[in-house]
Amino acid sequence: MSPFTTQQSFSARFLDLKLKQVRLAHPEQSLPSPPSSDSGASSSSPAEGDYFLRSLKECLEIYEEPSRARSDSLALLSDEEIILLANNGKIAAYALEKLFGMSELERAVRIRRALISRASSTKTLESSTIPFESYDYSRVLGACCENVVGYIPIPLGVAGPLNVDGTSYPIPMATAEGTLVASTSRGCKALNAGGGVTTVLVGDAMTRGPAIDFPSVALAGQAKAWIDSEQGHAILREAFESTSRFAKLKSLKTAMAGRTLYVRFATSTGDAMGMNMISKGTEKALDAMQKRFPEMVVLALSGNYCTDKKPAAINWIEGRGKSVVAEAVVPGHIVKSVLKTTVKDLCNLNIKKNLIGSAMAGSIGGFNAHASNILTAIFLATGQDPAQNVESSMCMTLMEPTGMDGEDLLVSVTMPCIEVGTVGGGTVLAAQQGVLEMLGVRGAHPQQPGKNAQTLARVIASAVLAGELSLLSALAAGHLIKAHMAHNRSQANSPASSLPVTPGARL
Ligand code: ADP
Repeated sequence: MSPFTTQQSFSARFLDLKLKQVRLAHPEQSLPSPPSSDSGASSSSPAEGDYFLRSLKECLEIYEEPSRARSDSLALLSDEEIILLANNGKIAAYALEKLFGMSELERAVRIRRALISRASSTKTLESSTIPFESYDYSRVLGACCENVVGYIPIPLGVAGPLNVDGTSYPIPMATAEGTLVASTSRGCKALNAGGGVTTVLVGDAMTRGPAIDFPSVALAGQAKAWIDSEQGHAILREAFESTSRFAKLKSLKTAMAGRTLYVRFATSTGDAMGMNMISKGTEKALDAMQKRFPEMVVLALSGNYCTDKKPAAINWIEGRGKSVVAEAVVPGHIVKSVLKTTVKDLCNLNIKKNLIGSAMAGSIGGFNAHASNILTAIFLATGQDPAQNVESSMCMTLMEPTGMDGEDLLVSVTMPCIEVGTVGGGTVLAAQQGVLEMLGVRGAHPQQPGKNAQTLARVIASAVLAGELSLLSALAAGHLIKAHMAHNRSQANSPASSLPVTPGARL
């Protein structure tokens, strides 16, 4: 029997349903728990102070009515009734968005929150401070996240502006670390005073390194020689590049470990960070290779020879993503007035800390003070993959005196692995797109594919330069503690400026 007999009762039930949805959206106004089975549920009118909940059987009848689309049936059920169906295994929590359709994505998230909350030991999620309303979940669905229960806001600050290659950019930084934006801003001010930052893009290639097993080292060796040959390279390139107009194979690097062969495919990827693109191309190239070597077994498309999201010397040496060097000259009087230190102290500290200290620690690519702080904040603000900060933050900071009497500071950062994109991944999300728009690099570059992503990498390296300059200056001047105290932080320590006492050891 239809649950709605007259137009009047439909309206009454619709109002009741809306009321229940409002109450679910505001669970702090305590709700009675839904029954766990149909036995205790009532289909009669709601008692005062209670709300109406149909039985599991009635809900199922509505939900499974064959003449209606599932999304239409769900529109006739209250949130609590859908929860009842889900708790009885009739609806899978992970599939709520698919069942509801694009117009009810927030409702799907709200119901999932309730389901997870009530199944958890703390039961806090439903009424928690984790926001979920007014978010464009259509951009998330099937692309960015599964089992969504809301979103995590991070404060967004802007450092700068910073003059990079003659253009002024605000530097967007999503961070919860006090002093970071203020400190980077100070670095920007000092860099601008010297005319800004000049960048050079020395490489642009994302990499994928599959692991391929052969029955013997002899066969693995033959395959390696074939890949390294002109003919093998051409066959692999043709297959690889057939998968995307943006993927252009730049190099193939091979290495053997016993009977396992590793091939590092390196390709330009336009404005995409490129992991999806290169994976597709690599798969196609390996299919072509399989025809020549039927004995080979592809163990994994990623055999860690890439190397993605893990520390690796191969990235530091060969580069991955965008390889950028950024340089600036800071006049001596600006080092004194803005950075409150001297060129001599800065250069000395940079050598002892960033170069010798990191060498003593056996670091790979960690010849910097805090490149990761700035890079990760910009990654979060612009929708990059934050896990790639592992290799993207690899950076060598260099400082030397320059000018007639060495009174000015020449400072640079060398960053071989900035892995960024302006299309795909988290760059499709509305807020992140707003940030990319502010930088003028949103989406695909209309004339020169890849230029937007390259510009973003140049801006990131330049902002890292600002961050390095400011932190090292603070350390050299012993200002770090004061800055942290002013921003309610107190954990850092800072040495006083060091002076050599050994004769002849002066810089
Ligand atoms: P990723 O490869 O970084 O994981 P996606 O696969 O999510 O990124 O997005 C890349 C997609 O965007 C590709 O399918 C590609 O065809 C498309 N695309 C459109 N314009 C561009 C561009 N200028 N550069 C790179 N990819 C682009």
